Parts: sequence; C-alpha cells; structure tokens
Amino acid sequence: MLSQLDKYLGKLHRDALVKPQRAALLVKDDKLLAQGPADLSSLGAAILERINVLALAIAEPLLPLTDLLIRRAAPDCRTLVPSDTETRTFLHDIPLVRKTELTTGASALLADLLGSRKGIIVEGVGIVTTGAMTPEMAYINWSSVWHAVFVKYLSDLLTTGIRSPDDELMVAALREQYRRPITLADCCVRATPPVERSEIYAQIERIGRCTVDLQLVDSAFGNISWRDGGMIYISQTGASLDELAGCIDPVPCDNSSTVGLTASSELLAHRRIYEATGARAILHGHPKFAVVLSMLCAETGCENIDCWKDCPRIRFLATTPIVPGEIGAGGLADKVAPVIGAAGTALVYGHGVFTLGREHFGEALERLVAVENWCRQEYFRRLVVRMT
Ligand SMILES: [Zn+2]
Ligand SMILES: [Zn+2]
Repeated sequence: MLSQLDKYLGKLHRDALVKPQRAALLVKDDKLLAQGPADLSSLGAAILERINVLALAIAEPLLPLTDLLIRRAAPDCRTLVPSDTETRTFLHDIPLVRKTELTTGASALLADLLGSRKGIIVEGVGIVTTGAMTPEMAYINWSSVWHAVFVKYLSDLLTTGIRSPDDELMVAALREQYRRPITLADCCVRATPPVERSEIYAQIERIGRCTVDLQLVDSAFGNISWRDGGMIYISQTGASLDELAGCIDPVPCDNSSTVGLTASSELLAHRRIYEATGARAILHGHPKFAVVLSMLCAETGCENIDCWKDCPRIRFLATTPIVPGEIGAGGLADKVAPVIGAAGTALVYGHGVFTLGREHFGEALERLVAVENWCRQEYFRRLVVRMT
C-alpha cells in the first residue's frame, strides 16, 4: 500500500499539478498509512476517521485557482458548478469551504461534505478528494476536480472578466506557463505504421504515454485505437493512458460481436469514425484550452440554454468543427463521425478532442497537439481583447 501512495503522489507531482511538498495521500489499510507533510496528513487522518472510504488525497494546486475561484464566488455560494460535461457527468457540483468556516471542527465539516461528494475545494488548503476503494481513485478524483477548476476559472476570466489584482497576477502566470507551444518529443512522432500485432500494442502504449506526458488529458483518461483489417485495437474503459500494457482490447470492426465489454466506452464512436473516414488511428483526449474554448458560444443572441446538448449549428475553431454531445450512449458517435473527416479533428463541446491518423499514430498526436496549441494562442488573444 505504501508503494501505491508513493506512485500516485508521484503522479500528482509529475503532472506538475501540486506545489512541492504540499500533497498528502492517505489510506486505511490494517492501520492508517499516510505520505506527505505532517499538517495535511493529520487533517486527512481526522477526516478519514469519520467517513467510510479507504483513501483520501489533500493537495494544494501549483496555481492557486481554487482560492481565486472562491474569492470570485458570491458570498452565499456553497458549490462550484463545473461547466464542462466530463466533470458534470462525473462530479455534479463541488462544495466550496471558506477559510472562515475552518475553525475548531474543521475535520468534521470536511468529512460531512466528503460523505456525499468525491471532492471538495477548501480555501487555503486546496482540493480534498476521497477514493472509495483505492488511493488511485483518490488521485483520479483529485485530478478531475483540478480539471474542472482550471476549465471553470479560465472560462470565467473570458466571460465575467478580471475582478481583482490577484486575477491579473494569475493571468500573467498562466501566460508564462502556457505561452510556449507544446512540442512533440522524438518518441511521439514515429511515422511508421505498425505491422505485427505486438507493434500495434507497443505503439498504442507509447502514444498513450506521450499523450499523458504532454498533459493532453487529466487523470490520464482518454482513449486510443488502431484499425487493422477487420479489427479495432482499443484501450480499455477506465484504463490510464500511461499504463496501457495489458489494457488493450481487440474487437471486430463490425457490430456483430458483443465483445468489447471492457473496451472503451467510446468504442461506438471509434467504429463510426473508422466507417466514415477510413482512417487507421484515432486519439481522444481532453486538452484544457480546447475544452474551455469549445464552451464559449461566440454567437450573439444564441437562444440555446444548453449549448452543449442542443446546438444545431456546427461551429469551428480554426478548421476544427465543434459538435455537441454527451458522453457514452452513442451521443458522440452520431455527432463526431460525420464531421471529423475534413480536417481530421473534431471538438466535442465541453468535453474533448478526437483526432485521426490516416496512415500512422504520429499524425493523430500531432493533430491533437496542434488543436491545443491553436486554442492556447486563441485563448490568450481573446483574453487580451477582453482586458482592453
Ligand atoms: Zn472523453
Ligand atoms: Zn450556442
């Protein structure tokens, strides 16, 4: 269990999501195990004592967006309602706890909130999440709350504007961190299509790791597939893209078979995309700037209340079409397949990006990077316009 704690704490630090020495991960095994600084560990222990989950993560994000969101929220606001669909589906709303509420009974209050939610935001502390069964779940929930926080803050800057000198400082910090385009490492661009089955698996595993290393997904979710003859090789649902060894399913291209129970929940979307485009590779990730921009409906006088579900128009970011869609249940399949062929890219409103490799995997990853790079630049361009 200690090695599990080290592994997922390591991932939080590797993803550069948390402040150095400001992350703790705890698990109730036979006894309580904790890794991380003493103050966070003891707060975590006091919370874990009161709730029926196995693991807990407490960490302060590297960029203090949690505190900034709390300060921007109305004084009577008790929850953050994420606007991206991935988070809405997964977390619903996220309780906010202000510093002034953290008096003597802090751990009881936090435990109470965590009894009914996977994650909460605590001013001055950061993000606290539970893992019902495993430390991995606590890490995934932490990373998902961070994704929601990041998307919400960046969206709010563009829609409701800069509200304080702290926001201004943050804009400068964000520009500093995200102004440089993502560049592909040599390992990510190999342009040789796999031939042997073992090469297919090896390339899927490698592209998965590259997608995570380049931070094009949070909590390592997303999916990858390769089409070879009548088969699709696809990452399993819930598998971490940086650890795909043993988590890739071969499934027939046609619908005849019921295999694919473990295959990605987006298998149907992949099937339809292959049918519509004849591509060889599909990559799906959740790059944050693309998600932010996809949700900002630029139409004036748009009458849709819920653009993520109802918008009949196809909008574009550069050459990438944005389609509405819900996770799973065929919603994505119907929307993405008809539009992805032209540019080899498609953005699902508030969710993420699908890209094609017509000949090899490198293409699909290059396209994903290109979409996110374009969205980063466009985001800061719009922000400058908004600020002047
Ligand atoms: Zn997705
Ligand atoms: Zn709209």
